[in-house]
Amino acid sequence: MTHSRHTLQLETPIQFVKGIGPKRAALLKTIGVETVEALLYYFPRKYLDRSHLIPISQLKQGDMATVVGRIYSAEVVSGRRKRFVLLVGDGSGYLQCVWFQGLSYVSKLFQVGGTVAFSGKVAWYRGPQLVHPEYDRISDEGEADPLHTGAIVPLYPSNEALSRGGLDGRGFRKIIKACFAALPDVLPEPLPVSVLSAQKLMERRQALENIHYPENRDLWEQAQRRLKFEELFFIQLFLALQRSHHAIEKKGISFSQIGEQTRDLVKQLPFTLTQAQRQVLRDIVDDMKQSRPMNRLLQGDVGSGKTVVALIAMLIAVENGYQAAMMAPTEILAEQHFITLSDMLKEVDVRMALLKGSQKSGKRKDVLEALASGSADLIVGTHALVQEGVVFHKLGLAVIDEQHRFGVMQRAILRDKGLCPDVLVMTATPIPRTLALTLYGDLDTSVIHELPAGRKPIRTVQRSEGKRDAIYAYLREEVAKGRQAYIVYPLVEESEKLDLATAAKGHRELSEKVFPELTVGLLHGRMKADEKESVMRRFVKGDVHILVSTTVIEVGVNVPNATVMLIEHAERFGLTQLHQLRGRIGRGEHASTCILLAPYPMSDDAKKRLETMCQTNDGFKIAEVDLEIRGPGELFGTRQSGALNLKIANLVTDGPLVEQARKEAQRLIAEDPALTGEDNRNLRDVFYEKYVPQFNLIEVG
Ligand code: ADP
Ligand code: MG
Repeated sequence: MTHSRHTLQLETPIQFVKGIGPKRAALLKTIGVETVEALLYYFPRKYLDRSHLIPISQLKQGDMATVVGRIYSAEVVSGRRKRFVLLVGDGSGYLQCVWFQGLSYVSKLFQVGGTVAFSGKVAWYRGPQLVHPEYDRISDEGEADPLHTGAIVPLYPSNEALSRGGLDGRGFRKIIKACFAALPDVLPEPLPVSVLSAQKLMERRQALENIHYPENRDLWEQAQRRLKFEELFFIQLFLALQRSHHAIEKKGISFSQIGEQTRDLVKQLPFTLTQAQRQVLRDIVDDMKQSRPMNRLLQGDVGSGKTVVALIAMLIAVENGYQAAMMAPTEILAEQHFITLSDMLKEVDVRMALLKGSQKSGKRKDVLEALASGSADLIVGTHALVQEGVVFHKLGLAVIDEQHRFGVMQRAILRDKGLCPDVLVMTATPIPRTLALTLYGDLDTSVIHELPAGRKPIRTVQRSEGKRDAIYAYLREEVAKGRQAYIVYPLVEESEKLDLATAAKGHRELSEKVFPELTVGLLHGRMKADEKESVMRRFVKGDVHILVSTTVIEVGVNVPNATVMLIEHAERFGLTQLHQLRGRIGRGEHASTCILLAPYPMSDDAKKRLETMCQTNDGFKIAEVDLEIRGPGELFGTRQSGALNLKIANLVTDGPLVEQARKEAQRLIAEDPALTGEDNRNLRDVFYEKYVPQFNLIEVG
């Protein structure tokens, strides 16, 4: 081994590591590992610690368990169903592991005498059994089992292709050991001494070693803290830099006055603004007066009244001689906003325009001309607003509604279409603070934390198929009282055709057989724009009693007279989506009911989602549960973009660390904005060479 000492550096290509040939190098490339450094940052997915394992004799049916044992026998059993069975023992008892699929592959994987970790849900068939368990080979026959020596054993994420190439947990443990053996004792340190000592962070090599091979629990925790901090710190550094660039280089607009029309509008509203709406408006007006461009995130649960706040801000911009634009994620929502805003602005002298993708070219040309010449003051639109060829005369304020549908990128493009316009981002998806700091670290945040007075909480119930007739009877009753209802069908991209057919069929049955005496409308994303518009208008007017739709109504649609929502196959919807959908009712003076129809049995996650919906109307609680179930990447659609592809930190559970990383990053940028100080030079190099290209990709596309 000594000959290989210090022959590796972090940037050495992976094929120079002992035990990695071209084949394994190619496999590692598929998971993004091309250098020694990338391999060292390929962290274990979990750890085995003998003192925390459950002995086989204590397993109970239904437990989720990890068991480590020796293989006593391995055989393919033919019978009614051919299967592969392992008999595994750990000294306390025996367990069967069973596979019904992939027999030819798994039957070659395990050797009698080897020690293996198995995880799964415990079933019972004449004793404990794991069906298709996860597995991780710990040692082969005759080899020492590291667990016996008291070590904590890391398990690595792997897949079938990797495993076939020898890169299962055992393979990873070997090549990572080989890396450490050949690396220098001190690894280059990107974090400045000032940060390391202020945060009492573990040295880099020690941290990496202890994340892979923890010496003990304490060192392992310190290693985790150091590596999580590192990960969060670079993100916060990026955000802090962005923020300071915006503040220094880009001079924005100072909207100095609040005009007559704005004051009149507020006076003439059919309601008084809530305390929360007024506070948020004060934040916005303060920002707009400053010459620094506003970058504000406005959070407020569905129905909290964000639209009117945005309208007031837009009117201020217009009265100061600028254009204002509002961008919505769907055409239906853009149309709805256009109607709502036109309505509220009836008495006000403002020229409005609507821009959307589906407009005929003649119409579109007129709208584009109006934007470019300045003959439109207030523009509502979809993504079409950020397309090439859209030019504004004098864009002063950009409002982005329902931010979670827009990427950071679109926000940046819209921003660049103006003269550094103020930007107000609105979202109904409550974002936990730590997540907001990471996703929108460059934004200030305001929250509307109350609903307008007099709103009746929505009653939510879960029902199964047997109650369908009773549900229909209830809908009929509500319509007889003058109310309206939504019936929502799921639609996902992967099964779009089938889903649309189901919704259309549902609509036919409902209108012809179930409610022949009522008017039942149909709305889905694939309909022509004018058809959509017309059914939506009829529903708003009350001419359509029941609106059958897909999730296109998820955001923003506002019909206060609708008091019932029936959601078909509620188990197929995400939690945030359900909450958004439910937000379409409970908007008026009448009590509302949301019925979640779902078949039994369903997955544990689905059960939890529906239970949560029945228990609470609180968007913040719902977002927390959703984060628990799904993790932040998926929730905010940023998984692919890499923005939140965190390897080790967890934005939900590592909140305090996010705050500390943010604090350190801001301090550093305040003290040394160009990072040219002696202590910060390594950081600067690593940041610009490695991280900025990654972030830029997200920001500019
Ligand atoms: P969201 O925040 O979900 O976008 P909206 O802006 O669509 O909510 O507002 C929901 C409904 O509440 C609208 O009908 C709106 O006119 C009404 N609304 C807004 N503010 C108030 C208020 N202060 N008092 C009463 N109703 C209000
Ligand atoms: Mg809204």
